[in-house]
Amino acid sequence: DKGLEKTNQNLFSKLSRAIVGKSKVDDEVLDELEEILISSDVGVDTTLKIIKRIEARVAKDKYLNTSELERILREEVIALLMENKTQDLEDFLVPEVKKPYVIMVVGVNGVGKTTTIGKLAAQFLKRGNKVVLGAGDTFRAAAVEQLKLWGQRVGVPVIEHGMNTDPASVAYDAVKKGVEMNADVVIVDTAGRLHTKVGLMNELAKIKRVMQKVADDVPHEVLLVLDGSTGQNAFIQAKEFTQATEVTALAITKLDGTAKGGVVIGISDQFKIPVKYIGVGEKIDDLQIFNRKEFVDSLFK
Ligand code: GDP
Repeated sequence: DKGLEKTNQNLFSKLSRAIVGKSKVDDEVLDELEEILISSDVGVDTTLKIIKRIEARVAKDKYLNTSELERILREEVIALLMENKTQDLEDFLVPEVKKPYVIMVVGVNGVGKTTTIGKLAAQFLKRGNKVVLGAGDTFRAAAVEQLKLWGQRVGVPVIEHGMNTDPASVAYDAVKKGVEMNADVVIVDTAGRLHTKVGLMNELAKIKRVMQKVADDVPHEVLLVLDGSTGQNAFIQAKEFTQATEVTALAITKLDGTAKGGVVIGISDQFKIPVKYIGVGEKIDDLQIFNRKEFVDSLFK
């Protein structure tokens, strides 16, 4: 799997090393597995859940061979992820709604929000959709300029009012432009300030409220972007943002730069929000549809 080599090598090689010279899955092996999962950023709660399930299988079959551990781990992780009933995407398709489909993108600075918006716009455009972007991250100096650059590169219009302007008003204009142009999709960037919980909540609520003056069913999607290489920080941000607004989908970036893809497993388990996209590089094509089975398989390849 392109871009995920680091993630792959690590879990597999760690697991292989842990079971070298051991034939039975015993407490010692399970302890090592627990450490591997935690050090891969799966998170404590999800790790304990997985270990418990494997313990239950060991209890049933006292002579469980370590050579079977990889298969069992894979089965249990997939089963865990499948508890989230939403379907994995099959392609970068824009869901059928009254046009335009509006995606509001949230996340803290530096996680790859702007880049993900550019990549998504490119994918939607490639499939024949009319796309409009809204530069609503008006607090970060370079964010508006960066989104404009992405707009030029991809070839889609960017609605912007410059820096330090009201993000809600940018969102309003972007959705309005989308309606006027009969666009298929409008992607609105927002500022990801985590200063105070109430502040974040109010800001996101205001952006929603104002864009709803154009169409009352928007945004159709609130996409939270998380940096997959930041481990615990990604968990903390997921918690803060899901408390501040209704997050409907996740994009987890920078999985090319980390050996700790486990964060994807932990976050989908803890938050039960579908991971729709994963970022595996800085280039325009380095965004993939997330598929649970393929991702888990890639961890062991
Ligand atoms: P924002 O502040 O959240 O809008 O973050 P940016 O989109 O500006 O991204 C911050 C940095 O992360 C930039 O240097 C991007 O090129 C880089 N970046 C974004 N996504 C990925 C990814 O999936 N992989 C890698 N390696 N870098 C990424």
